[in-house]
Amino acid sequence: MPTYKAPVDEALFLLNDVFHLERYGNLPGFADASADTVEAILREAAKLSEETLTPLNRVGDEQGCTRHADGSVKTPEGFKEAYRQIVEGGWIGISAPEEFGGQGLPATNTVIVNEFFCSANMAFAMYPGLTQGAIAALITHASQELKEKYLPKMVEGSWTGTMNLTEPHCGTDLGMLRSKAVKQPDGSYKITGTKIFISAGEHDLSDNIVHLVLARTEGAPAGTKGISLFLVPKFLVNEDGSVGARNGVSCGSIEEKMGIHGNSTCVMNYDAATGWLIGEENRGLNAMFVMMNEARLGVGVQGLAQSEVAYQNAAIYAKERLQGRAISGTKFPDKPADPIIVHPDVRRALMTMRAFNEAARALVLWAALKADVAHRSQDAKERQAADDHLSLLTPVIKGVLTDKGFANTVLAQQIYGGHGYIAEHGMEQFVRDARIAMIYEGANGIQALDLVGRKLAMNGGRAVMAFFNEVQAYLKERAESDSLNEYLKPLGAALAQLQQATMWFMNNAMARPDNAGAGSTDYMHMFGLVALGYMHARIAEAATAKSDDAAKARLVTARFFMQRMLPETATHLARIEAGADSVMALPVEAF
Ligand SMILES: Cc1cc2nc3c(=O)[nH]c(=O)nc-3n(C[C@H](O)[C@H](O)[C@H](O)COP(=O)(O)OP(=O)(O)OC[C@H]3O[C@@H](n4cnc5c(N)ncnc54)[C@H](O)[C@@H]3O)c2cc1C
Repeated sequence: MPTYKAPVDEALFLLNDVFHLERYGNLPGFADASADTVEAILREAAKLSEETLTPLNRVGDEQGCTRHADGSVKTPEGFKEAYRQIVEGGWIGISAPEEFGGQGLPATNTVIVNEFFCSANMAFAMYPGLTQGAIAALITHASQELKEKYLPKMVEGSWTGTMNLTEPHCGTDLGMLRSKAVKQPDGSYKITGTKIFISAGEHDLSDNIVHLVLARTEGAPAGTKGISLFLVPKFLVNEDGSVGARNGVSCGSIEEKMGIHGNSTCVMNYDAATGWLIGEENRGLNAMFVMMNEARLGVGVQGLAQSEVAYQNAAIYAKERLQGRAISGTKFPDKPADPIIVHPDVRRALMTMRAFNEAARALVLWAALKADVAHRSQDAKERQAADDHLSLLTPVIKGVLTDKGFANTVLAQQIYGGHGYIAEHGMEQFVRDARIAMIYEGANGIQALDLVGRKLAMNGGRAVMAFFNEVQAYLKERAESDSLNEYLKPLGAALAQLQQATMWFMNNAMARPDNAGAGSTDYMHMFGLVALGYMHARIAEAATAKSDDAAKARLVTARFFMQRMLPETATHLARIEAGADSVMALPVEAF
């Protein structure tokens, strides 16, 4: 059985020593999040993850969800009790506004807690995770009446949330969606249509399920400009806030799938279901983007979380499994063979995962901090800069952290040899669970296009220029530092290559858009490497001020990243500058 130990000390080091959370005390909610409070929250989340959610990960995988003939769905054994602990602990609303029953604490806290929950049990963590995304969309776009009626129960967790975009004929291209919404004299709408692949669409964990559904009103323009967003509850809500009659929405079936078996993936049938408009008619995608952006960051965290738990188990196994002798000479002569951790190739795999995990966690926290500034700062300029930054980083975090997160679960599985392929050790579950994160919330190819096609050009390149300026200023201010030179020099070189790739797109993509499409995934990964390298530089700087073993290990890990992972930017640059010619040259019939 795999084990999991939540990296609480690692998170505290990032919050306190790298990002200096105490400097944000002027933002609402931050004053309540003293270092002691944050530590207490994280230790409690760690306990819940390690003792309750981790043991249920295998159970959820083996049992999966069951749909009964009446359309109800049963989650795996133990999920209901675990979910009750989530509600009782107030975990869903730790960063939600106090006016709706949340604790108003910084988003940074929620992000760490969610990483722990996802490492312990990704399929389970999706139920509260989706609810948090739905809460964010309602806070930003719903009417006060809808907010007051639904948010307190969702923040508490007794009602969960879902997002309903996908239809059988449209996933990426939402402009084609067909679900209909017909306005009623009382201002509500009747929603009719079929949605597929809806995570947590039906289950037995909560008293009600609040579906956020994209549909078209009568006479709406074609394409994405004619899509509206609706709130459609499973049970209608009475005037006094109690759960009332069943609405016209039901689960038609649940999918058999590769991983995350403990999360129900549902076909949802809307049959003149009563719904209420969120935001304005035909501006539904805009409103749904709040949930999607939140969910994209959450999915990036899933990639990191699976990489972390897979790494932890691979490291334990590598210290126990005896095979062969070290090429530099026997290390454990009293044993029949050395543990495989002595072999450089096994070390390479472990260091690759470790170097990714440490920097990815920092990157996610950095983004969460920007989200806090964007939502809570009194200064409009500061808010805008933080929002720019978050928009730019969202596709990078989603795409890179899930591609690498999956790759790392495979690396960890490889360390187990054949024992990683069989079910007993649980490593193949991490691989299967991590795979979906590359697909849903916008497949990673779409994240790369979002970065290159939209985010780079946004507001005349304001966001990307600010990112370049920040890293450049960081490097310049420390140019004389001998102790940091080995980290800063490679980062400077990688940044220059990223800037070169950005210029190449500016010069070559307008005339030939395929050049942008063909290079977008490379660019996203190149951006990810530079962002992760920047995080390693900041980690190394904070670690040089300390002398404990953990700090020394962080310096070695940062060195490994700079020497052995960051240089991949050169390969990405070469591919980008090769353009689309060889990618697009073959006629369709040749495939
Ligand atoms: C387990 C699971 C859970 C899910 N949960 C939800 C949920 O809760 N709510 C929800 O609404 N949906 C959900 N989805 C749906 C998911 O978000 C979609 O599957 C995903 O967005 C891709 O859409 P698609 O499957 O239709 O693929 P398609 O859109 O058909 O894309 C197929 C491939 O073509 C590529 N592609 C498509 N268009 C372009 C383009 N213009 N340029 C370049 N490449 C392109 C894509 O990157 C992809 O690799 C879930 C799916 C699964 C499997």
